[in-house]
Amino acid sequence: MLYEFFEKVYALEKQGKGIIKLNVGEPDWKPSKQAVRTANEALRNGKTNYGSAAGEMQLREKLAELHGCKPSNIVITPGSKFGIHTLLMLSLSKGDSITFFSPHWTAYELMCKSLGAELRIVKLSLEDKWKADVSKIDISERTKFIILNSPCNPTSQAMEEKEEKELIESARKKGVHVIADDAYRDLCFDGRKERQLEEGLIIANSFSKTFGMTGWRIGYMVAPEEIAKRLISHIQITVTNVPVFLQLGAARALEDKKKIADKVRRVCRRRAGIAIKTIGDLTAIAKPNAGFYIFPKLLGKMDGLQFANLLLEQGVAIAPGAAFGDFQQHVRISLCAEEKKLALALGVIRNMLSKAE
Ligand code: PMP
Repeated sequence: MLYEFFEKVYALEKQGKGIIKLNVGEPDWKPSKQAVRTANEALRNGKTNYGSAAGEMQLREKLAELHGCKPSNIVITPGSKFGIHTLLMLSLSKGDSITFFSPHWTAYELMCKSLGAELRIVKLSLEDKWKADVSKIDISERTKFIILNSPCNPTSQAMEEKEEKELIESARKKGVHVIADDAYRDLCFDGRKERQLEEGLIIANSFSKTFGMTGWRIGYMVAPEEIAKRLISHIQITVTNVPVFLQLGAARALEDKKKIADKVRRVCRRRAGIAIKTIGDLTAIAKPNAGFYIFPKLLGKMDGLQFANLLLEQGVAIAPGAAFGDFQQHVRISLCAEEKKLALALGVIRNMLSKAE
């Protein structure tokens, strides 16, 4: 449903309708100049051959250092979505289940359904500010993985580190791996340390969000060696490898990670503040502590899809909440637009909210 809505937005854009797109989780900041220059130079210098299925060693080494592990634990993937999907596909047998909190990223549900896995969704509530009660996680005999997406797409709430630890610990005791999908972790407003690989944990991460490199399609998995090897074999027989010149650009981007992450984190915090100030009084909303989404609940009779469709007619695209679980009254607004444009779009949203019954 989410992807259908996105197609509708693309079609309107093609017809030449000017749309401010707050529907997609795509940063409006650009990759660093140094990363682009390095990738360009690599391309010009003929780094255009097949490469290692595991990824370029210089990139794997840098990532291993960040995550407190060996390069053999690191697998470079064409986007973290591909990495997560590959892991699930290689690990799940019929009847296995996957647990995650909801609201949740649309793709988890679609992946699990397409692979025939049972979903065990732990529903969170706005009234509790989307706080997860880790003790409520139910782990059965057939639970294969728990997916921890903190900060979460779509709520932009990060779990306390203490609770994350508790979750990982209780899963580990039952022999279940936690997949930490850390696509937004650098964007925690409190600035977290890099997640370290530990027993019972698999980390999925991405260059898309922090570095604004969505179209480069680079992500990575940090996993125990035996799992990493299986991921690498799958990459070998499918996409072969992530383009080498792009990986070299990504390795260059990593050198400035702290500076880049500090900057985008400040941008995200400021934008969250602007959004809450503009529409906070007309919706029910939990203030984000990370990332670039807000996930307000509409107070009128209109549901999220109706609201998103009407808003699209006014030239602003957002995502209906139903795409993220049983949250029909919500909408997800991605605060990824240059700030004048963002203010304009939030003004249109405010206007529509104030008219909605
Ligand atoms: N995880 C989450 C929670 C996401 O929101 C996204 C992108 N929307 C991804 C993973 C995938 O990122 P990519 O494939 O671009 O690395």
